[in-house]
Amino acid sequence: MSSSANSPVWHPFTQHGLGEPIPLIARGEGARLYAPDGNHWIDAISSWWVTTHGHAHPRIMAAIRDQSEKLDQLIFAGWTHEPAESLAAELIRITPAPLTRVFFSDSGSTSVEVALKMALGYWANIGAPRSRILVLEHSYHGDTIGAMSVGERGVFNKPYEPLLFDVDTIPFPHEGLEQATLDALEAACAAQKTGSVPAAFIVEPLILGAGGMLIYPAWVLAEMRSICARHGVLFIADEVMTGWGRTGTRFACDQAGVIPDILCLSKGLTGGALPLAVTLCIEPIFAAHFSADRAKTFYHSSSYTANPIACAAANANLEIWRDEPVQQRIDMLADAQAAHLSILATDPRVANPRRLGTIAALDVVVPDGGYLSNLAPRLIAFYRDHGVLLRPLGNTIYVMPPYCITADELAAVWRAISASLDQSFG
Ligand code: PLP
Repeated sequence: MSSSANSPVWHPFTQHGLGEPIPLIARGEGARLYAPDGNHWIDAISSWWVTTHGHAHPRIMAAIRDQSEKLDQLIFAGWTHEPAESLAAELIRITPAPLTRVFFSDSGSTSVEVALKMALGYWANIGAPRSRILVLEHSYHGDTIGAMSVGERGVFNKPYEPLLFDVDTIPFPHEGLEQATLDALEAACAAQKTGSVPAAFIVEPLILGAGGMLIYPAWVLAEMRSICARHGVLFIADEVMTGWGRTGTRFACDQAGVIPDILCLSKGLTGGALPLAVTLCIEPIFAAHFSADRAKTFYHSSSYTANPIACAAANANLEIWRDEPVQQRIDMLADAQAAHLSILATDPRVANPRRLGTIAALDVVVPDGGYLSNLAPRLIAFYRDHGVLLRPLGNTIYVMPPYCITADELAAVWRAISASLDQSFG
């Protein structure tokens, strides 16, 4: 069953002009999504990278139900509630010690906006204003104006380009070219070209998601972090996608021993059940805003900041991480992904097979690569018709399932990928 053609809903990242059916989903359980008529799909991309332990996880649903009977919403400016307090305390406990403050928001994009404003606010409030931001080529940080500004310019944001602010872009550390990236970062931090020292460098640690599942080594991340530290440039880790186990460890920065100055988390923060985000920062950033002078206040909020029900869902997620074998599930999924990927790795129709933790990706060899490759809509339709929710990025097919996916379900996903290669080229 699909939503009707005269539905008023305007869907995100969806070209309604292609006339593709839009399946109506009534229920989710584990790695599966069910239509009202019982038809079902395996959610192989965790519903846009958010669902970690599975859809409608009983413990998260129970926490939501329980909290909804106590307190649904509270203005968070100058007021607080227990779910936010315990969540913040637990986040501080599980992240590196220098991160001491937690600022709540409600999406990955807003967590990035908050990070950028924290960085600029820090420099302004200590009386040494800086405004330039360094970014990594091919990055994606969200779709609000600030988040787009620090992301790759291209098809996602072309019409809005006049509104986007200028950034300095560091080349992506392709294999063999890592030193060029580090040299460019060093030069940018030292303000060799611009004359002004940047406020911050924002980076997706270890893997660039929407940019095409581009992986780079932990030692490069560690080097980038120490270059920023040496030059006093704030280091922002956007772990909106990489956080909560996707890359094999709870946070990608853990693999590089990197402690950022600012850390953005969202998506899997609630296990993927409700929208919530946090931006954590080091004490000096908070201290720069701590003053009897009201002009130094951090002026950022949205109505639903730290919504109590979303915080309760996040607390349940953290409990699951505490007392279920989440890491073991991640390790098993990572191994299974590696095994499936290795079967296709030598296929001549496939290029750049790659994996980081639970995320596996490959490029289909086509003449017209890139995000607008005609292959993507055909593949999406093919998978939809074969019971799998996959959403290739151009000619890049990736699999990023919830950790509860069964061996049979994962095998079905890879069978569909394999069959799609025959379909496209056969
Ligand atoms: N940052 C990264 C690395 C992301 O992958 C995304 C979304 O995919 C975002 C930020 C934006 O998050 P949201 O879609 O929740 O605004």
